[in-house]
Amino acid sequence: MNVRNCRRCKRLFNYIVGPYYCPSCRAELEEEFQVVKKYVQDHNRADIRTVAEECNVDPSQIRQWVREERLVFSDDSLVGLNCEKCGKMIKSGRFCDECKKEMANTFSNAMNSVRHSPSNNAPASKDKTSPKMRFLDN
Ligand SMILES: [Zn+2]
Ligand SMILES: [Zn+2]
Repeated sequence: MNVRNCRRCKRLFNYIVGPYYCPSCRAELEEEFQVVKKYVQDHNRADIRTVAEECNVDPSQIRQWVREERLVFSDDSLVGLNCEKCGKMIKSGRFCDECKKEMANTFSNAMNSVRHSPSNNAPASKDKTSPKMRFLDN
């Protein structure tokens, strides 16, 4: 048994998994989410503060939904979040496309310490190319 205080209404409840909200607050948050989502669809140039005021929802809650990629602002929207890595404006998630790509590359480079790049036009240093590879290139 894991009893917690709900982060929202401070009532005690039996905590199982996920955010620290009691079942009734979770249901209310879900309703709020639907309201916010609808509002953002209808007013896709509204910023987070306006949405928060109009929907009577905490701005940090809205940002959290955006971070979770549940709520997405349109491309021409004036708002967004900042990439957690480079600070660029993004519409959802935590990182911009470039940083996502960079992180994916860093990851795959780490995985491939042995070089077998498919790009033939890159003049890779000859001494790293095995004789077999050079033969195939010529
Ligand atoms: Zn609650
Ligand atoms: Zn970035």
